[in-house]
Amino acid sequence: MDRLKGKTILIGKEPGQGRLLVSVSGKTAAVGASNSVPNSVSRCKVAEGVAHAKITVDQSGNMVLTNMKTENVTYVNGSEIASKRILPSNTVELGKDRFKINLPLVIETAKKLGTISNGNGGLGGNSEQGNNSNSSGNISSAKKFNIKHLEAIYNDYHSKVIARQQKQKKLGILASCSMFFTIGGSAFAALANKMGMGETAQDYLWILPVVGFIVFFISMYMRIKDTSIEDADATNLEYTKRFVCPNPDCGKFLGNMPYELMKTQYSMQCPYCKCEFVEK
Ligand SMILES: [Zn+2]
Repeated sequence: MDRLKGKTILIGKEPGQGRLLVSVSGKTAAVGASNSVPNSVSRCKVAEGVAHAKITVDQSGNMVLTNMKTENVTYVNGSEIASKRILPSNTVELGKDRFKINLPLVIETAKKLGTISNGNGGLGGNSEQGNNSNSSGNISSAKKFNIKHLEAIYNDYHSKVIARQQKQKKLGILASCSMFFTIGGSAFAALANKMGMGETAQDYLWILPVVGFIVFFISMYMRIKDTSIEDADATNLEYTKRFVCPNPDCGKFLGNMPYELMKTQYSMQCPYCKCEFVEK
């Protein structure tokens, strides 16, 4: 029969790594990503037998969740509890930040720690809900990764692209300035001749083409010195290296699209490794 019967499952924050620690009979396993559990969840100290909450399983497989410290808070289906019978389908949240635990996964993890041998699961009628998590011995399967930092990475990339385009625009305007002086010079000369002021105008009209010539050289020089193409390459390369799935086992580039669009496009899930994206 179920090895969890008559056992107690301790649940709390893992000291150090900050994952959710599940403990049965002194054996422990961590669930979730590093630092996924907020500080408002009390630590699970196995040696001292203390944790944020515990689930006791009676001989019939019924589970009772108990808040272990008075300074903690524990919620079941949105209501604060001191002790309450729970089903795997219930929503359990720990701490004032209401950290929602993946209860079926916690139960599944506890079963592995209790080295259960039959595959039918004996935890009451709802235990089949916990059976779809992987059973290959890799207990930390609820992979959640914070993607909030990607917003700054995208914004940084985007502002560099805009700055580069503005620089190109300025160079374009400077180039047309030289044209303006050159064409303007001939136009004024023609006009001055037409009005019979050719003699006087001759003394001054040379100025415009000369200024145009100088501006033309400045704009040429700035275009030669312009590193926009190289900058664009470096910026794009940096972006493709940084705008990636935060799962260290994946790290795939998430595409050239704004952060907000990326979130909705992928429904908060990596399209490659299927890890869950969270924002903190
Ligand atoms: Zn991924």
